[in-house]
Amino acid sequence: MVFEKIPIVETARRCGLVLDHRTLRRTEVEASCPFCGDHGRGKFHMSLNTTTDQYRCNLCGAHGNSVTLYARLNGVTNKEAYRELTNGDKVIPLPKQPVPQNTERQPLPLAERHAAYSDLLEHLTLLDRHRDNLHERGLSDARIDRNQYKSMPETARGRRLAASLLRSLGHELLGLPGFRTWYDDWTLSGPNGFLIPVRNKDGLIQGLKIRLDDGGSNRKYRWLSSRDLPNGTRSYSWVHITGDVTQKRAFLTEGPLKGDVASFLAKDALFVCIGGVNALNGLRETLTGLGVTQVVEAMDMDQMTNPQVRSAVLAMRREVAKIPGIKYSKYTWDPAYKGVDDYFLSRVSSM
Ligand SMILES: [Zn+2]
Repeated sequence: MVFEKIPIVETARRCGLVLDHRTLRRTEVEASCPFCGDHGRGKFHMSLNTTTDQYRCNLCGAHGNSVTLYARLNGVTNKEAYRELTNGDKVIPLPKQPVPQNTERQPLPLAERHAAYSDLLEHLTLLDRHRDNLHERGLSDARIDRNQYKSMPETARGRRLAASLLRSLGHELLGLPGFRTWYDDWTLSGPNGFLIPVRNKDGLIQGLKIRLDDGGSNRKYRWLSSRDLPNGTRSYSWVHITGDVTQKRAFLTEGPLKGDVASFLAKDALFVCIGGVNALNGLRETLTGLGVTQVVEAMDMDQMTNPQVRSAVLAMRREVAKIPGIKYSKYTWDPAYKGVDDYFLSRVSSM
């Protein structure tokens, strides 16, 4: 069958592909690949050649022309695709579109996220190596179970199963960070590791953080997010609360797991954990909502050696110090122990 030359970029638009707008004037226009989908944020692996009107994905190797692209994405034959593409008057409904780069999908309301993530965690397991890791930090089995740390499913099948399970329980996945779909093929997306529930003061799960297995990277933690994936949802850097919320004194630290461990080792002391020294959104509201009168900074002891981190910590102090009715102080310990959790663990171990 010989096809007329049908503009590939126009076809890609009709098919709802996300295009990299910076490349629109080039011979090779870049787009997100709808076939492999699993690309990082702002990555465009599919090239649309405006000279040959062919497409090719540099990641999964999918390739072809306008007709085969349209046919494959719409589940029609090449002949039908050709007819639809060349019939200019016909209104062609767009397939479900991935979220364009400039309008990110916002997460579902907290109650819905909590309900869905709770069911997810209930059905996932915790691998032995992850339990060992948590033991080494000083957590007991009872606390590990109570805090609901669970391992990311490690196979594509396990991840799809997790998604179908949530759907069968009636949860909406559109708007749930970490889930994505292309043509109703829902799955959970993210690196391997174990999940850490990030809760508000009432214990509701706001989001999930992953402690990555991959020891190679500097970044040990990442939010469970499906930002920039087809029909995916971004996460926010939610503030985590752990410990006895009736206490008037809150320790302020970075990272939910560090807070969980330190709180457990310090007889359920109240910990407020930010996602990072630059992630102060919601901190003020959180502290005000808790009704604490004293905030004790317990950031890692090496925080002040890096000038950028140092200025971020100072900015955080200023932010908290501005809150009326809160007394701010800094907790210091033997700098041989990097984090407050390490320090508490050493005290518990030596007793
Ligand atoms: Zn691809």
